[in-house]
Amino acid sequence: LGSAVLALSMVACSGDGAGSGGNDSDKPADLTIGVSMPTQTSERWIADGNSVKEKLEAKGYKVDLQYAGDDIPTQSQQVDQMILRGADVLIIAAIDGTALSGQLQAAADAKIPVIAYDRLIRDSPNVDFYVSFDNYKVGVAQATALLIGLGLQNKDGSKGDATGPFDIELFAGSLDDNNAHFFFNGAMDTLKPFLDAGTLKVKSGQTKIEQVAILRWQQEAAQKRMEDLLTSSYSGNSKVDGVLSPYDGLSRGIITALQNAGYRNDMPVVTGQDAEIASVKLINDGVQNSTIFKDTRLLAEQAVIAGESFLQEKAPEANDTETYNNGVKVVPSYLLPVQTVFKDDIKPILIDSGYFTDAEVAAGQ
Ligand code: BGC
Repeated sequence: LGSAVLALSMVACSGDGAGSGGNDSDKPADLTIGVSMPTQTSERWIADGNSVKEKLEAKGYKVDLQYAGDDIPTQSQQVDQMILRGADVLIIAAIDGTALSGQLQAAADAKIPVIAYDRLIRDSPNVDFYVSFDNYKVGVAQATALLIGLGLQNKDGSKGDATGPFDIELFAGSLDDNNAHFFFNGAMDTLKPFLDAGTLKVKSGQTKIEQVAILRWQQEAAQKRMEDLLTSSYSGNSKVDGVLSPYDGLSRGIITALQNAGYRNDMPVVTGQDAEIASVKLINDGVQNSTIFKDTRLLAEQAVIAGESFLQEKAPEANDTETYNNGVKVVPSYLLPVQTVFKDDIKPILIDSGYFTDAEVAAGQ
């Protein structure tokens, strides 16, 4: 980083075009937006990257889009490079929410506004705006889907016919991703009354986020943890009835572990997130219970709107100025709503909106 910052401050001092601070042109073709995405292993980030790029290019901007392969040093280097190449705005979905403070300081020094995309960047004063979904509500929606799947609650919010008790297991995302904590908190607040009443039981006893988190949201790690849980807590005739999973990739790992252990028609209620096509097929086939759909096209649009506001030297419009404290300040945010997708919702929510075709859902790709 040292040399990058040095080189950068030389560019910035020479007043020679790095960042919107140094760029006098307001023609889109002269402006570059750096877009840093975490990984291509999950299709949502590929869709996010493509949507942001297409929308910016349609407005005439240049786009510097990079994927970091879930590797923190790679993402740091890519952001350094974007700054050195003269980005005018940065849009960043961080791998580790606390690992980019050096880059953000360099961006601030070069007067480059930074938009945190989907994942909040923490511990830095130099995050100018945040576009995301309501991440606490994602967790509430996941836990609610679990309750509905088990029959403890109806879709209209009324009490379901089932009485339990049910054995469930919990999974959370990567601890270095701020969102993972919001998802888990939303879910646990929703499940707590049922856990307290004994209607839901976590046989493994693992209920703390540190015990159930999966580093970098890796499918294989989720499969391994589910296999271990089945061996340690569900031997003999005991069956797991539900699994809270925060992301479709983890859900598929969990489902593979369950299938390998012989679960078929007795598949537990498994939740998810992102409406990944392979999981939408599993939901359509009655294997996975549900997912949470976050329309990345709308998120990309908000990122583009916020980016343009910064380029016009205006503060982007926020719809939340309270929730997202990054440890240094509350970052003004634009939060989008989410939708739960059960099997019956695939057509109205995902197909009729043009997100997927019938054929894609049938094929799972
Ligand atoms: C995103 C989720 C995604 C997860 C894993 C989170 O930060 O908000 O949509 O499932 O990362 O990629």
